[in-house]
Amino acid sequence: MFFADLAPYDHVRELPGVVHVGWLAVGQPFTRGSVTPGVLDKLRLAERDWRVCQTRGFHPCELCGQDEEDCTAEQRWLASAEIWLRGSSGIIYSAPTLIVHYVSEHQYRPPEEFLQAVDAWQPGGDGWDPRAVSERLFEESSRAMRPTPRKRARKARSGERA
Ligand SMILES: [Zn+2]
Repeated sequence: MFFADLAPYDHVRELPGVVHVGWLAVGQPFTRGSVTPGVLDKLRLAERDWRVCQTRGFHPCELCGQDEEDCTAEQRWLASAEIWLRGSSGIIYSAPTLIVHYVSEHQYRPPEEFLQAVDAWQPGGDGWDPRAVSERLFEESSRAMRPTPRKRARKARSGERA
């Protein structure tokens, strides 16, 4: 699944205030470069202890061209959730947990503002819980998708006028 770096979140749902980072795909160019060992360590920690949007399925690394059947249990686990981090501006970054693999094995270098957010992240230290935030945003988005009777009536009236 490909989303350009810093594109508004649109995986299953549109989530205002959330942007994609590291949703790489084969055939889509991406920035290469090194990141500090500290950043990679924190991404590993986030992948291990702070994963959100855990799915029952998984998405193997397209860049490796691996078949789903050939993936080890560890690889499946690495490719089955997201990491959410908050930037200094309040924007939320959503990265696939596979970003750990993209950075360590494919020399992917995420945007600078994301690297700064990773660097500044104090796991759990500021009381910001990515799981609670993602659940709330998905719930709000579900509610917004269901039109209220009043909205439906308004839509019908504007339809008559047109
Ligand atoms: Zn790979």
